[in-house]
Amino acid sequence: MMGDMTDPNSDEYASALDAADALRSFRTEFLIPRHGDHEQAYFCGNSLGLQPRGVRAHIEQVLDKWAEEAVEGHFREPAPWMPYHALVREPLAALVGAQPREVVAMNSLTTNLHLMMVSFYRPTRERPAILMEAGAFPSDRHALESQIRFHGFDPATDLIELEPDEEDGTFSMQAIERAIAEHGPRLALVLWPGVQYRTGQAFELRQIADLAHAAGAIAGFDLAHAVGNLPLQLHDSGADFAVWCHYKYMNAGPGAVAGCFVHERHADTDRPRFAGWWGHDQGTRFRMGPEFVPTPGADGWQLSNPPVLGLAPLRASLDLFERAGMQVLRAKSRRLTGYLEQLIQAHLSGTLQIVTPREPERRGCQLSLRVVAGRGLAGREAGRDLFDYLAVHGVLGDWREPDVIRISPAPLYNHHADVLRFVRAVEAWRRTA
Ligand SMILES: *Cc1c(COP(=O)(O)O)cnc(C)c1O
Repeated sequence: MMGDMTDPNSDEYASALDAADALRSFRTEFLIPRHGDHEQAYFCGNSLGLQPRGVRAHIEQVLDKWAEEAVEGHFREPAPWMPYHALVREPLAALVGAQPREVVAMNSLTTNLHLMMVSFYRPTRERPAILMEAGAFPSDRHALESQIRFHGFDPATDLIELEPDEEDGTFSMQAIERAIAEHGPRLALVLWPGVQYRTGQAFELRQIADLAHAAGAIAGFDLAHAVGNLPLQLHDSGADFAVWCHYKYMNAGPGAVAGCFVHERHADTDRPRFAGWWGHDQGTRFRMGPEFVPTPGADGWQLSNPPVLGLAPLRASLDLFERAGMQVLRAKSRRLTGYLEQLIQAHLSGTLQIVTPREPERRGCQLSLRVVAGRGLAGREAGRDLFDYLAVHGVLGDWREPDVIRISPAPLYNHHADVLRFVRAVEAWRRTA
């Protein structure tokens, strides 16, 4: 088998795919964790993306500026701190398919979700309900449930959690459509993921936003697993708002400053909001008057002056996305994840079950895998055993309770050779008694 260029399960085949990959050199822009004498096969970009080498220079620039200019660093070129968040505006807008004033980098994901809900979840007695997916990321559920209680409503009746209708735990669009039709008159908000974190299923934002709007509800999205993973057209999707983080596929570092989108039609909204001085009209902010006049667009939801050290890595990250191009990244991602799928089907089908939808349009980088059996174990036990074995052998995925291993080849830094290493490691695990 080894040495056969036509056998997908060979080093030669994986090397040939890597040699033909126009993005292969982007890997050198990242610091790849070591495993003994080798680099790790890192598949956790859906949890914490790797560090771009360019990050250090951006952080040092801030530290040097602080040392040399102190308070004047707010105003002095280059990269003055006062409008520091504006440095990422254009590339971020391009990345998510938004107009520049529709996006802002601020706070953390869950904070932004709450701030958006303050403005866009306005329950009434007739329309108090929120529709979300069952099994959502806990933070999102906590945020939604606590907002419902905050408004004096009851999550037992007003938080509607749609159960997956497909056998593998994914959703058909018909199920979403039916739920919105069924609950439509009571729905204040549909809050849906761009990519579901556990199954890796990707959704058509436009379709969901249209359905929500037709029912008279607001459409909001959590794009934690979609941004930097799939090309997005947020403006055209018609979504009212969206929130996401930058430490997953965006590689902007642990706890990185998050992102927020507010559709242009709400740019001058008089909806209530929780306000802070940085959301105040930029022209008059420093008159320090008592009355809040919001800056139009997403910037109007900012509370505080930008966390410059936290934003610095995002500049390095966005440079890479700009250089690579999201469409090119996506094309590679389809090949890379497709290669993983192909090898699993051909060689590991009795061992691993793919949870993630098989159609490339319905997923991003990630494949969620359930371990059927191996090494005399079955189900969750086999899963934990394999997961630990992989980690010990320098192949890092992540584990999501109750029984899912997530493997996310990231097109910026993973090679086909990494995918082959994963498959080889699973084969080796199977062989060990
Ligand atoms: C990663 C993730 C979070 C994490 O929220 P933080 O506020 O960044 O800690 C929340 N929701 C979803 C769907 C996620 O994938």
